Amino acid sequence: MILIDTHSHIYSEEFDQDRSEMMQRAFDAGIQRIFVPSIDSGYTQKMYDLEKQYPENVFLMMGLHPTYVKENYEEELAFVESELSKRKFYAVGEIGIDLFWDKTRLEEQKIAFKRQIQLAKKYSLPINIHCRDAFDEVFEVLESEKDEKLFGIFHCFTGDYEQAQQAISCNMKLGIGGVATFKNGKIDQFLNQIDLKHIVLETDSPYLAPVPFRGKRNESSYTKLVAEKLALIYGVSIEEIAKITTENAKEVFGI
Ligand SMILES: [Zn+2]
Repeated sequence: MILIDTHSHIYSEEFDQDRSEMMQRAFDAGIQRIFVPSIDSGYTQKMYDLEKQYPENVFLMMGLHPTYVKENYEEELAFVESELSKRKFYAVGEIGIDLFWDKTRLEEQKIAFKRQIQLAKKYSLPINIHCRDAFDEVFEVLESEKDEKLFGIFHCFTGDYEQAQQAISCNMKLGIGGVATFKNGKIDQFLNQIDLKHIVLETDSPYLAPVPFRGKRNESSYTKLVAEKLALIYGVSIEEIAKITTENAKEVFGI
């Protein structure tokens, strides 16, 4: 059984003490590929080092995370653009809008999101969307950029059924992680009405660990717990979930 974690911050300081053990646990659990979202330029070298260490398993994205859109965001965007022009990435991400922590930079976040979508189109790459307390704002930008070149993953999808449909209509897969295992996570209520062809697995490690590790550090090996929960929600075997979500991830990332 092969599983793909489409969103994991393996470079996080949280793994500095035991990163190689964490990676080995992921491989042992059948997680063959880990797609790594970028946050800002401060972590890029660490990402490159990990890619070098695990060339068969680690695949990088490039982008500026919405909560890292600060005064210097023009410089950060220039960095993203320059790195994209230099080497291969598998997506532009994570990008989007986050109004949970700070609402004061909404305009800058929208500009950064839109410009990075345009970069993704330029390089024919998928986007990896981060959306927190900002569905209306994210969809406003997405709808303005909607065309045959727009595609990707709505990472850590936490919306309702209508929002899921709208994301799919914008050519997005839904990234499903630990929230699907939460008692009050809500998405488990309607997910079985969404065709599995629109679903990919993720952890968002080290955040959002699935039950029974909720509140603790998350890691890529827990992708398997998400797959188990989806098997229950959809009433199919975990092998079937693995097969379909792995195909979906391959379709999005082209590898
Ligand atoms: Zn993330």
